[in-house]
This record gives sequence, C-alpha cells and structure tokens, in this order.
Amino acid sequence: MIIGERVMNSKLNQLKMLLAVMSTLLFVACRQGQVKTDDSHDGVASVKINDNFWGPKFEQWRTITLNDVFDKFEGKYNPQISPSLKKDFERLGASRDAFKNFDLVAEGKRGIGIHNGPPWYDGLIYETIRGAADFLAHYPDDNLERRIDGYIDRIAAAQSSDSTGYLETYTELMEPDHRFGFNGGFQRWQHDVYNAGMLVEAGVHYYKATGKTKLLDVAVRFANYMYSYMGPAPKKNVVPAHSGPEEALIKLYWLFKAEPDLKKKVSLPVNEEHYYDLAKFWIEDRGHHVGYPKWGTWGNDSSEKWIREMKYEDPKFGDHRRPTWGDYAQDSIPVFGQKTIEGHAVRATLLATGVTTAAIENHDPRYIYTVDTLWNNMVGNRMFITGGVGAIAADEKFGSNFYLPNDAYLETCAAVGAGFFSQRMNQLMEDGKYMDEFERVLYNNVLTGISADGNHYTYQNPLSSDHHSRWEWHDCPCCPPMFLKMVAAVPDFIYLYKDNALFVNLFLGNEATVTHNHKKVSLQMSTNYPWDGKIVLQVSPESATQLAMKLRIPGWALGHENPLGLYNSRMDATIVLKVNGKSMPVTPVNGYITIDRTWQKGDEIELDLPVKPRFIYANDQVKDLSGQVAISAGPVVYSLEGNKNPDLDQIKLDTKTPMEISFQPQLLGGVNIITGMAVNSKTEKVRFNAIPYFAIGNIRPGDKYKVWVNRN
Ligand SMILES: [Zn+2]
Repeated sequence: MIIGERVMNSKLNQLKMLLAVMSTLLFVACRQGQVKTDDSHDGVASVKINDNFWGPKFEQWRTITLNDVFDKFEGKYNPQISPSLKKDFERLGASRDAFKNFDLVAEGKRGIGIHNGPPWYDGLIYETIRGAADFLAHYPDDNLERRIDGYIDRIAAAQSSDSTGYLETYTELMEPDHRFGFNGGFQRWQHDVYNAGMLVEAGVHYYKATGKTKLLDVAVRFANYMYSYMGPAPKKNVVPAHSGPEEALIKLYWLFKAEPDLKKKVSLPVNEEHYYDLAKFWIEDRGHHVGYPKWGTWGNDSSEKWIREMKYEDPKFGDHRRPTWGDYAQDSIPVFGQKTIEGHAVRATLLATGVTTAAIENHDPRYIYTVDTLWNNMVGNRMFITGGVGAIAADEKFGSNFYLPNDAYLETCAAVGAGFFSQRMNQLMEDGKYMDEFERVLYNNVLTGISADGNHYTYQNPLSSDHHSRWEWHDCPCCPPMFLKMVAAVPDFIYLYKDNALFVNLFLGNEATVTHNHKKVSLQMSTNYPWDGKIVLQVSPESATQLAMKLRIPGWALGHENPLGLYNSRMDATIVLKVNGKSMPVTPVNGYITIDRTWQKGDEIELDLPVKPRFIYANDQVKDLSGQVAISAGPVVYSLEGNKNPDLDQIKLDTKTPMEISFQPQLLGGVNIITGMAVNSKTEKVRFNAIPYFAIGNIRPGDKYKVWVNRN
C-alpha cells in the first residue's frame, strides 16, 4: 500500500472511531431510564441440546474430559511430563494432589513449606467446578455431582479453619503472613484475589445447577471478608493482579438481587450491593497506585524484590498505597484511559469481560466507551483469523497493531477470555458482530484446545507449526479448566432474551422455552451447522403471541469477514430466509434480521446461510500475512496438514479455481474437508486438502500444519 493511501485510511479510521463514539453515546442516551438487566438470560429456560455437532462433544467432555481434569488435579498423571511439578514433588515432598492442599489447611497447617502445584491451583479447581456445574445444569449426573460434593466438603473444611473466611491454600501453607500480597508478599505470584473470584463464580454456578448452597456459603464468607478488608480508604488498596474476580462478584450480586429469599439459605448476612461495590472498586481503582515499581525498565525480578521489600509502604506515597501491577496486568493507567488492549492476554480479556459485565448493570458511558474501544482495538487490529489473541510468548501478551505472525503464542485461555468478552459485548450492545467474533473464537481457537479423544489439551495455538501436539498435563494446567468453562456455557449463549426481544445468537440443535408476556413459547432448532447452513426454527407459543425474534446473520455470510476490515473475503451466494414457507428480504440491521409478528403454534423459520468455501485475505497492514491466504467455510477456519499435503512447505494455493467442500462422515468423527488446486515447488498442479483447524493433530499427532498458505 502506498503512503498516501495509508494516510487516507488512517483518516477514515479516525472518522469511523468518531462515528463509533457518537453512536455509543447516542445508544447510552437512549438507554437512560431502562430497567436494569440481570444475568439470568431472562425468560430462556431449559435449553436441551440435540445437535449432531455439539451433542457428541458435550457427551464426551462431561463424561471423559471433566473426570480426566479432576483426576489430574488429584495427581493422577505421569510426573515425568511435568518437570516443574516433578521438582516440587522431589524438593518439597509434595504429592501433586491439589485437593490435599485443602486437607492440610483444614488440619490447621500453616507455613509448612509444602504446597502441591502452583499458587493458582485452587482457582483452577474452582473453574473446573464452574464448568462441571454448567454441564450438570443441562445433563444431570449423580456420580459427577457426588464427586464435586466431596471436593466442596474439603474446600469448606479448609475455610472453617480460619475465622475470617480467608481461603488460599498456597498462601496459608507457604507464606501465611502475606495475605493478599501485603507484609512482604507478592499478590501477582500468590493469586489469592484471583482464586477468590473463581471460588465465587463456582459457588454461583454450582448453586444455579444444583440448588445446593454449601459452596455458595464458602464464597459469600470469603466475599464478605474481602469487602471488609479492601476498598476505598481506610480499607486496604487491593485490586486483583489477575483479573476475573470483577465479573464473578457481579454474578454474586445479580444472584442475590434476583433471589432475595436465597439470603435466608446461606449462613451469613448478605448485602449484595457490597459485591457490586467491590467489583466496581477493582475496576475503577486500576491504575491508581504509587507509580512503582517500573516494570518495563526495572524488569520482573527487581520489581518483585521492590514489592517484597514493601517499598510502597513509604508514607510519602500517601495513606492508600499499593504497588502497580504494570501493563502486564492492565494497571499502569486507569481503565477509562485505556485505548488499546495491552498486556497479559488472559488478564486483559477477563478484565474487559468484567468491565463489560459492570456496564450491563450500570450503563455508565465511561464503561461503555472503554469496552467499545478495547473490543475494536482487539478485533480490528490484534485478533488472529482463528479468534486467537496474545501474539507474544514473553509475558503471554498482546502484540502491537497488525502484528499477526503465524508462529504466535495464542494461549487457549486468552481465546476463552476473548470469547467471554465478545459474548458480554453482545449482551450490552445487542449487535450481532460480537457473536460473529464469539463464534470465530469458539469454533477455532477454543475448539482446537482439546484432542478428539477428549483428554489431551493445548496451551499455545499458533497458526502454523512443524511439531505441534497436545499434552496430557502441564506445569500450568490453566487451559483445560478455561476450556471447560467456555464450552459448558455454550447452551446459555444460544439465545438472549432482552428488552422483550429474543435474539437467536448461535445455531445448534436444541429445544428451549422462553417465557414472554407470561406465556411459554417453545422453540425447536434443527441444523447441521457448521457443516451446512440450513437452520430450521419452530416457534410454538402456548397461545398466539407477539414477539420480536432477532436472527443473527453472520458477517461472513454477507462478505464482511471482519467488522473493522482486518480480514476480507467475498461471498457471492445469497442468504435465504422463509417464514412458514414464504420468502422474506434479508436486510440485517446491527447484525440481526427482526421478525416481529404474532406467532402461532407450529410456525417455522427457515434460514439458509451460504456455508461454502471462501478465501480470506489479511489487510495490507499485516506484513506477516502478505501474499498469503486462509480458507474458511461458515465459521470454521481450515488448515492444511502435512499428512495430506506432502508439498506443504512449498505449496502455493490457486485462488482462481473454485474450491470444493464435502462432508466426510468417517473422518475425525465427521467433518467437512475442502479441496482445491495449488502449485508445488516444481510448478506442477497439485490438489490441496484442508481440514478444520480445530481438528489438527488428530490424524498424526505432531503433524505439521498451516492456516495461512502462500498464494500463487
Ligand atoms: Zn491457559
């Protein structure tokens, strides 16, 4: 691209930004006075999945994967595969069993110098319980519930050994005087606030799934303690060094607001406003600190030393002092001043998720402007075609704009965080583009995080590799719990009932009921998505009722690969929409077609999206992808693997010859493959063969693959 064009483009981008800000403010203005929204996906209940694509996967993940992850947290894996845990085992006499930590704390042990696994193990267990709870809500399973109840007993016993309600096994067993990182501790390593947030989230989800309050009780006790301990002066100045707790506390607030009688079932006083206030403090206090250490220039070790030596306690820093957690933890500058998404990608996406969740509650223009800005920066400049984020391995962080190399880091957890962020943005802004990007990350970077056999996982998810394979377990097994949290939540993200409208956000076979105008409306969706684009939705109210149904029309189906032009593709096929067999025009507004009518029993919507192969090109500013092309059909991104493409290193795709797509029922549990023409190093014509990116590494583990391939 010539310089002049770039200047024009940047002017154009500025104009677009201005328009985006204006539309946001207009949007906010329109919303004043609206009743507050809660988290319950109101009205939609009893979603039952009955889907060819997701059904067998959910079955495998809830029966095999969940138990596998719990087993491995119990230490049932080969220690040789995890050098650092093996070292702990030998040096500390640790057993690798993360649940033993709770037992030791319950026995009153403190500062004994033995802790099984890294400090964030408690949090990972809570996250797995949250994922399991969401599965239990849709698939009751007595054995799984009994297993979790056993864990909850041990967690509760650990908490009852401390009169305050504080619970973090690492801090208690290794450095008990360093609660929340004060007094010579280091919260960024200890993760006690992060773990607390994950406990709260698990308590809420497990209660919603089972009606049991024991874990919720533990969560409330810890949340009450945190509220009494941290906040505006004279309370202690603490923000999570790893975000995530912000959204969790708002969930706790929403739960008690929606179910005031629940307060009688927990053993402690509950003032739900405190949980919202604490989450808001954590968000608004970011960037407010003593200004030291200087992480960027001093480096991590010197910065940690400065914190452990409590230099931030110097009275010259005022009476509400704490160290900064730096860019890495989105803590250099206040949240409302953050214009680009920076730092550790899991932390950054979970903070953005928390801020968006708060915005759903408060509609504060500063919150909305901030998350709109961060999302646009992420999706328009820093998101990979698979939905992955966090390009750089050092500090697991976001790279600069348009830095999208094929060997990028792209942690599974960061993709999950980006997915949660997009889902909350959809809930806040009611625009389908957010679910387009949710879908991109779900079907690609998230789904590749697990093997076809359901018990091997990924941490990094680069777009090309010569030796990529999934592992049995990891020194830092954060990704399997985050994977479970995301996929187990999918049934809750199909529909969104808001402002008396029903948004149809995801396409998978299901039966559900929505209560609208005090009437039950049954919904039945059938589809073979993502393998083909036909979706049939039957709408059956108990008696005739008016309802605005909003069907998401994905951007890719309209030739809008990316809402901000980071990627481009063409789509020349049309979208077909019929209601009771009668064609309707397809002119989506904000990503949705609205069908507002009086529905009768047995009414039927038929939507046909063009799931056909398309080439994708990156914006010219992405230097790493110059001359390269990727392939997609529907929301699924494809990849060429070495086993079917012997010339993979040299091959150049012929983008002039149309590609073919076919369903292969015997391959990888049934997937589409895409074939097309290419030339090899001898300029001979050859046929290429692409499989879904999420399925790589299952035919030949460790096989080489490429998502972006040179074009002829
Ligand atoms: Zn991870």
